[in-house]
Amino acid sequence: MSIRVTHYRAKCIGCFGCVALAPDRWRMSKKDGKSVLLGANEKKGVYTVAIEEDEFRVNEKAAKMCPARVIQVNKY
Ligand code: SF4
Repeated sequence: MSIRVTHYRAKCIGCFGCVALAPDRWRMSKKDGKSVLLGANEKKGVYTVAIEEDEFRVNEKAAKMCPARVIQVNKY
């Protein structure tokens, strides 16, 4: 099974929540104040990265608490 995290970055409001919860996978950008999904590939402004099972929980938590609802975590 593979797990994918998706970040619809354009609508990120830079609240810091995902970074606080999952600092191994998220950073704040000093450039524009939005978060950055580490290791992700960008396509049309949407960022995706495959993660391992051990990162699933914290990223799922981040997705649930994201006030802008711009994080998705999917298992395939
Ligand atoms: S929790 Fe959501 S809105 Fe807040 S910084 Fe992360 S992606 Fe952006």
